[in-house]
Amino acid sequence: MHNEKLVESIDELLLDALNKRVSDIHFEPYRQSYRIRMRIDGVLQNMLSPPLDLAKQIAARLKIMAKLNIAEQRLPQDGQLIIDQYTMRISTLPVLNGEKIVLRVMDNHEQQLSFNELGLPEQELSLFCELLTHPQGLILVTGPTGSGKTVTLYSGLKRLNKTDRNICSVEDPIEIPIEGINQTQVNLKAGLTFAQILRSFLRQDPDVMMIGEIRDRETAEIAIQAAQTGHLVLSTLHTNSSIEALTRLNQMGIEHYLLASSLKLVIAQRLVRKLCPHCKVVACELVRFEEEATPHFLAVGCQHCIGGYRGRIGLYEFLLITPEIQQQILNKTKIIPNKMISLKTAGEKLVREGITTLAELHRVLGGHI
Ligand SMILES: [Zn+2]
Repeated sequence: MHNEKLVESIDELLLDALNKRVSDIHFEPYRQSYRIRMRIDGVLQNMLSPPLDLAKQIAARLKIMAKLNIAEQRLPQDGQLIIDQYTMRISTLPVLNGEKIVLRVMDNHEQQLSFNELGLPEQELSLFCELLTHPQGLILVTGPTGSGKTVTLYSGLKRLNKTDRNICSVEDPIEIPIEGINQTQVNLKAGLTFAQILRSFLRQDPDVMMIGEIRDRETAEIAIQAAQTGHLVLSTLHTNSSIEALTRLNQMGIEHYLLASSLKLVIAQRLVRKLCPHCKVVACELVRFEEEATPHFLAVGCQHCIGGYRGRIGLYEFLLITPEIQQQILNKTKIIPNKMISLKTAGEKLVREGITTLAELHRVLGGHI
């Protein structure tokens, strides 16, 4: 292909991907084929199969856009490129038949930062907002990678972002830049760790601290200590359910009495794809949730959507640390929350309301259903 034409086609491809709310674009050379896949609403899908002989030219063009070394094909490279005000992180990796390139769209989340778009049911939303006004304590959001934890935390931070609060965040990497929040990025190469940054925060007169993720004992200890000494601490943990978060913190060496006195709320969260309103159809059979048989919808696919889905919505499980739960933590007994809506129940409600499908719920919750 002529070079100018190629440049134009790649620009078009990237802009089109941004329009489709793509989060990642994969360029993959194989022995006999070349394919471009995109992750849309959390699901990786085949988009294009350009001729294999374009593989090198496409890789070279992307590397030029990101100011990487185009001659280097034997070692991985990282960088970023900007197109139409969107920043994309680029990662190259030598594979069997050339170089695989992955682009990750970095700041496509900003528009999702309003509370209304999180899909939080009214009761949970007001509970979250109320707890954000507390001067101290720990609020955790849990879930696997890609479950929208960061967006939930950032929405909280955005709400707290006022002149009278000093907000510090430590992240790896900084996902969404926000004016008014002091964001620090972990830099392991330079020896700058989560724990080190957190210790510095404590000398920076903070009101609110956001910790990208609690990964180890040291970070957990500082988070708990800060949450008990007049700071509101927000963080994420990589666990499947809200109750598992308590077990995980115990395993990291946090004593039960410290957890009971500092933890305020644990949110477990997932994202499910929403049915496209233009093409969804009612399933022939009813589905039985608990005792009740209800109709549900199936995904079809049309020109307005991809495979019958368009956009995503959150599922939430709120474990509020009430005096009863505090007592259960102190007694080291099984945690039995009163009236907690589980992820499964939250998902079934969306199926019943025709917002998502049973298949999607199974995909996202897997063994939890
Ligand atoms: Zn559709």
